[in-house]
Amino acid sequence: MSTTTSLNVIGVQGRQITVPTGLFIHNEFRPSTTAQTLLVENPTTGESLGTISAAGPDDIDRAVQSAKAGFATWKSVSGPAKARLLLKLADLIEQDAQILASLEAVDAGTLYTDSIGLNIPQAVGCLRYYAGWADKMDGKSLEMDGGIAVHPPRTHRGVCCHRSLECPSLAPALAAGNALIIKSSELSPLYAQRLAELVKQAGIPAGVVNIVTGEGATAGQTLSEHMEVRKLAFTGSSVAGRKIMQAASRTNLKKVSLELGGKGPSIVFDDCDLENALFWTRIGITANNGQICAAGSRIYVQERIYDRFIEAYKQAAANAPTVAGNPLETSTTKGPVVSCTQHQKILDYIRQGKQSGARLLFGGEPIGSKGYFVQNTAFADVPDDATIMREEIFGPVASIAKFSTEEEVVAKANDSLHGLSAAVFTNDISRAHRVTKSLESGQVTVNAWAMLSPNVPFGGVKESGFGRDMGEEALEGWTTVKAVKYHILPRL
Ligand code: NAD
Repeated sequence: MSTTTSLNVIGVQGRQITVPTGLFIHNEFRPSTTAQTLLVENPTTGESLGTISAAGPDDIDRAVQSAKAGFATWKSVSGPAKARLLLKLADLIEQDAQILASLEAVDAGTLYTDSIGLNIPQAVGCLRYYAGWADKMDGKSLEMDGGIAVHPPRTHRGVCCHRSLECPSLAPALAAGNALIIKSSELSPLYAQRLAELVKQAGIPAGVVNIVTGEGATAGQTLSEHMEVRKLAFTGSSVAGRKIMQAASRTNLKKVSLELGGKGPSIVFDDCDLENALFWTRIGITANNGQICAAGSRIYVQERIYDRFIEAYKQAAANAPTVAGNPLETSTTKGPVVSCTQHQKILDYIRQGKQSGARLLFGGEPIGSKGYFVQNTAFADVPDDATIMREEIFGPVASIAKFSTEEEVVAKANDSLHGLSAAVFTNDISRAHRVTKSLESGQVTVNAWAMLSPNVPFGGVKESGFGRDMGEEALEGWTTVKAVKYHILPRL
């Protein structure tokens, strides 16, 4: 049964946007079999935007059956034809940028300007990059004693499942020939609902991409336990990541990749370009209100420039006061954080920071009484063992501390359960080389922060997870190698 149930939201420039609210299964929007729904909230106001279908176990199973059929179809689509469909989807996303960016602003609180300037181009870039791979996944042949071994082009995995961050995973998964179920975030599902419409419009066959939302404990857990899901790529917290691994080990040993949290160190050496370091260390923790896994939330500054850095950091914040408000407005520089729970969590970490012996440089309070706004906040002289120095806050809270030597700061930076992203600021190329080599981190940037690019692998080490998004490496997670061995008989 198909349904046209939808909700309306007001996007950029007062434009009304209609979003389907059903579960996108086999290229149709359907209500949940249990008629269960989730409330979608606008974090700017705390008000309801409407409700959306929430997948229960039976819906997840329907999505898996759809993906099985989709996989059978997709397997027979040639590489160049797959590439054309991915390119078509990229074009549609680009044309639809204002709607998609509005939806991110409305239910996730993402600044419209950030979405349109960064997030959408990144999604488009990923699709175009992997479209290029769709017809270039070649194999190998190896000589063996008595024969020859051939890897045909890497084989597909079958029905896979992914959560959040739609395009960085959708693109390599599809290019590699998989059929996919995306379980979007229950807090901000609207972008994915619109993406579903574009998937259909692009002409991607039914079942190849299914998009559902639902609670982690039900929809997410059912996917993690499903016997016919062969790979699960997860983006989210370590707590959920652990549950997913447990579920995979209890059931069919599905391949799991995890993109989890971070506590990124930004290391500022005294020989760096200070203005540049100030710029990036501020962006690194305030972009998207610090709700970025790669956020540079620990800032280590070398002792000779420590006081100067702290003064300039404070001054820079004072010189560019945030304009908090509706993320759809282009003049807004601070939107809300995604949910009431996240807001409370951030404020609780700030309270702990104030009690930790650290010095509050600025911020530290909620903004206004409506919606989930919190001031950009920075603490200096943060002790190594303070909770705000050790735990991921996922909010705009910088923890700054002093160091004296290269060895000391590398040890501090590595003294973390996480290892996702790090930044080093120095003009000494030999030092940059030594330090980047010593840091336990999936990525390290030099004299900048983050620098995501579709052709460069991104992912973590330690408890930040394993597996890679983006780059050629991401394809490995979505494929498997089959060795075919020919015994060559001697000529009689
Ligand atoms: P979360 O773990 O609370 O939720 C993420 C998703 O997991 C949701 O869709 C939820 O429904 C699902 N989920 C929850 N429990 C589950 C279960 N038992 N089984 C299956 N699925 C389940 O995380 P969040 O608060 O939405 O996101 C913040 C976290 O995500 C942070 O730790 C952040 O660093 C991390 N993150 C990592 C990356 C990365 O690329 N490494 C990117 C973005 C966010």
